[in-house]
Amino acid sequence: MTQQRDLTDRFGRHIKYLRISVTDRCDLRCIYCMSEDMQFVPRARLLTLEEIIRLGRNFVELGVEKIRITGGEPLVRRNILSVFEALGALPGLKELTLTTNATQLPRFANALVDAGVQRVNISLDSLRPERFRRITRIGELDKVLAGIEAARAAGFRRIKLNAVILKHRNHDEVVDLARFALDNGMDISFIEEMPLGAVQEHDRAEAYYSSDAIRSDLAQAFELIESTEHSGGPSHYFRVRGHRGRIGFISPHSHNFCDSCNRVRLTATGRLLLCLGQEHSKQLRPVLRAHPLDDQPLQQAIVQAMEIKPRGHDFRLDGIPIIQRHMNVTGG
Ligand code: SAM
Ligand code: SF4
Repeated sequence: MTQQRDLTDRFGRHIKYLRISVTDRCDLRCIYCMSEDMQFVPRARLLTLEEIIRLGRNFVELGVEKIRITGGEPLVRRNILSVFEALGALPGLKELTLTTNATQLPRFANALVDAGVQRVNISLDSLRPERFRRITRIGELDKVLAGIEAARAAGFRRIKLNAVILKHRNHDEVVDLARFALDNGMDISFIEEMPLGAVQEHDRAEAYYSSDAIRSDLAQAFELIESTEHSGGPSHYFRVRGHRGRIGFISPHSHNFCDSCNRVRLTATGRLLLCLGQEHSKQLRPVLRAHPLDDQPLQQAIVQAMEIKPRGHDFRLDGIPIIQRHMNVTGG
């Protein structure tokens, strides 16, 4: 017996989008994402690549139409290309995408396009080498710019930059970042920092810089035209006169987006997270391993997990973060 081909939660939201974190490890240490002394999951506890592919296939059989591979830095996981190739070949999957810091893109960009990845999100918070190093703790801007160049040359249909904006760290660069994206035919989304996991480098309330503030900074340099377009995500988009690229805002604090949430997340250890900002979850790895040749129990577990998808996140900027898990574990 096959399961229903639709994942729906208690609030009538249809789940069409799965984000898979394939590793919590990374070659950068961004100050808003990781703590200084980050402990990573022992490799033995990670899902194997075959298990990731099996999970992806089952979600697609249950009606998921879009999968984003993320992390940590997905491209540092050994042999990760096999996951893109296998998922890219699934007939029911409409879109396979990737979020990356771009350091490995010179090596992977062409192969990713060949595997069917049409859109890529690249994180870039500063165009100033020293500042980029401070925000990523160890990163080299040149490597990321080379990765962006490689992505542009490889012919992805769309490239979007993601910039997390922090007051007094990079808020004065929003116009430069937007201009860089637009001049190179890319989209850019500005993201309000989310309180996921403890960080030592800054006080998140003090570093908060709202989407509205960014938008008014940008309005000094660009003519922004509100757009009704949606990429099925939380971004609120604006067109810019004279440019192909769009500017988006992801505003978990100032403009909540939970009502239209269509997504769930899978961690690198096989924990299915029903909400970015809550702990409601279901461990899928034991189900996978208990039934290596039968997908029915796995599909049943996935359908049942939809029952515990919460209404929304409860992010607060004051005090201790209620979510102890960092973004690299969650899969941003
Ligand atoms: N390593 C890849 C990258 O940086 O693009 C993929 C994983 S990263 C966790 C995914 C996205 O989450 C990045 O765009 C990053 O800027 C964002 N991110 C990380 N921590 C965040 C936080 N606390 N608040 C908001 N966005 C965050
Ligand atoms: Fe790594 Fe991405 Fe987190 Fe930065 S945001 S530390 S690049 S996982």
